[in-house]
Amino acid sequence: ETFCQKLPKIELHAHLNGSLSKSTLKQLGCSEESIKNYQETLTDIKQVFNQFQVAHNATNTLENLNLATKCVIEDFAKDNVIYLELRTTPRSEKDLSERDYIETVVEAIRNYESSKIIVKLILSLDRRRSWKEQLDTLDNIIDLKQKYPDLIKGVDLSGDPGKGEFFKKLFEKARDNGLKTAIHCGEIKNDNEVMDILDFKPDRIGHGTCLHPDYGGSEEIWQKYQHLKIPIECCLTSNVVCLTSKSYEEHHVKELLKNSLPFSLATDDKGVFNTTLSKEFTVLGQTFSLSKNDLWNISRNSIDYSFADEEEKGFIRFALEQWKIRNI
Ligand code: IMP
Repeated sequence: ETFCQKLPKIELHAHLNGSLSKSTLKQLGCSEESIKNYQETLTDIKQVFNQFQVAHNATNTLENLNLATKCVIEDFAKDNVIYLELRTTPRSEKDLSERDYIETVVEAIRNYESSKIIVKLILSLDRRRSWKEQLDTLDNIIDLKQKYPDLIKGVDLSGDPGKGEFFKKLFEKARDNGLKTAIHCGEIKNDNEVMDILDFKPDRIGHGTCLHPDYGGSEEIWQKYQHLKIPIECCLTSNVVCLTSKSYEEHHVKELLKNSLPFSLATDDKGVFNTTLSKEFTVLGQTFSLSKNDLWNISRNSIDYSFADEEEKGFIRFALEQWKIRNI
């Protein structure tokens, strides 16, 4: 095992259906044919959004959704992820309501007995859906948060960044109801929306690619962001594969490192992008010549940005400190 594999890691940005490995898709009944080109045919962000359909077709029953959730948690645990915030978009299927969908994922997390990993759930609103549809989903989330307060921690906004919009009122409602917010922001250039999201001040930002003027943002946006210092979930491989970043060397994480701005490393969709959190740490370390201690610090700081409660944060920090004594 390499240093990055052994390092206890914190994953804050992982979409359930994008995280299914090829072997999990097979377990869920996908044919060899349907997954033959999985991971290999990706060229840009549009292609990626078509790819999610493969996983969605495989998780359209209660049993399969349950199994998929279990397999994904298991994969992260094997990669020494000790704290995982899994996110997923509630959807209704033929024999599954949105509420059933959420409760199935919750049950799978609860049944995953392991002292190795703590798992929390973030529920996603799909920006391609209408205001009314998103409001209905949010109401289900708020209701189920009362039932599972230790598990359902936040709301995310995701989906094709070229479609739909950010409805601030929905996220204000989420916040007023005790939910944390993690919002995909500036994956592609959209200065007005980025400004609206920054005005809202989410707890975390997903990607945050087009903030700095060198990466498609503007001076005004970057100034505002630098003042707010909202932690950014950086998904290097995802951005390089989707062509929203030119290369690892030219990924916007470079600006965050240079200016000591808060970020965590994440996989986004480890199945679709054929990655692991260990790989993301390895790539970052190699690309920017970081030391073992630098990488440990990134893992350690991510706990502060997580939606865990204080007691859990303390527990995870302690585990990391103990590991450091023995390994660095
Ligand atoms: P699910 O929410 O568990 O169904 O995971 C797949 C979904 O996550 C996709 O259909 C998208 O809505 C969302 N998603 C995954 N990756 C990205 C991304 O890079 N940008 C925006 N949305 C994403």
